[in-house]
Amino acid sequence: MTTYVWDYLREYENERDDIHDAIETVLRSGQLVLGASGRGFEEEFAAYHGAGHTVGVDNGTNALKLGLQAIGVGPGDEVITVSNTAAPTVVAIDSVGATPVFVDVHPDTYLMDVEQIAAAVTPRTKCLLPVHLYGQCVDMTALQAVADEHGLLVFEDCAQAHGARRHGQLAGTWGAAAAFSFYPTKVLGAYGDGGAVLTSDPEVDANLRRLRYYGMEERYYVVRTPGHNSRLDELHAEILRRKLRRLDTYLEGRREVARRYAEGLADTDLVLPSIAPGNDHVYYVYVVRHPQRDAIIEALKSYDISLNISYPWPVHTMTGFAHLGYAAGSLPVTEAVADEIFSLPMYPSLDPAVQDKVIGALHDVLAAL
Ligand SMILES: *Cc1c(COP(=O)(O)O)cnc(C)c1O
Repeated sequence: MTTYVWDYLREYENERDDIHDAIETVLRSGQLVLGASGRGFEEEFAAYHGAGHTVGVDNGTNALKLGLQAIGVGPGDEVITVSNTAAPTVVAIDSVGATPVFVDVHPDTYLMDVEQIAAAVTPRTKCLLPVHLYGQCVDMTALQAVADEHGLLVFEDCAQAHGARRHGQLAGTWGAAAAFSFYPTKVLGAYGDGGAVLTSDPEVDANLRRLRYYGMEERYYVVRTPGHNSRLDELHAEILRRKLRRLDTYLEGRREVARRYAEGLADTDLVLPSIAPGNDHVYYVYVVRHPQRDAIIEALKSYDISLNISYPWPVHTMTGFAHLGYAAGSLPVTEAVADEIFSLPMYPSLDPAVQDKVIGALHDVLAAL
């Protein structure tokens, strides 16, 4: 059997009764869209964060898009973010008519290098969009200081950072709003697409409820455009409610997998994840680095191990973003990192025997390079 970086079937076996009960609860509820499960999940997700409001939406990309619109980012605005991220971060900025502006990443953590933000600020800059990539937080104290100095909004991409903390504070609780994805592979994942925006501002909350509901407040009457149909389905909301109760257990599981990698791979020349001081990493992905990355991935195929790269192409080098005008070499750390990183299997239900197989295969492959 092939080993992949992510697999949900073992978790499903363990949680099947609860998942089936969640589905049955919704099917018997009499309300399949915007019902009690969605409201319950929104309240419980907000409570987990000790923050005011959560609005469930249909996926993480729309959480970013509607969230940006809800805080007032749109055409003509510049949004400073990173190119070392999942493309949807940038797709969302582009789709609200704003212009993405990239700063490079830190060579140790591969996260936004906050020291480069100030130089990227222009009179059109409206918002800073840090991505808590791989499961650890950007240096939000330093970032907030730049935002305060220049009067900028902060919007967090938390799609990879459910439950991640920095100096004890949860990801998603710094900015004007924060976007989460519940895509199945994420740290908190549904059995399909899902997303949410977290905010402590009641006005942003009200904007989001209109934006996801055609621009309506009451049925059949549009009060504001743009409108979208972008709601979190009840089935996913109820499954997410059940899984949210286990979120801290999932985080412990991920940290245990990370601990076993750190122990098992310490004697190799792989560069293991670097955790910034003050961060509690949740290991959405376990990213390692090696100059012969492609040869390693290829060799592991004969051990039936199929790995991923998060991410192989910096966003600014993609054809779809050529209009932004970033030349090759303009973000040197991001570009160097993309050529050398790859991700090892990481999910809380990863069988220790399977993980040992991966660690053993890596030792063989590295020795034979
Ligand atoms: C997954 C992800 C998204 C997009 O979420 P979807 O639910 O897949 O639309 C956005 N940003 C980051 C950093 C992600 O990892």
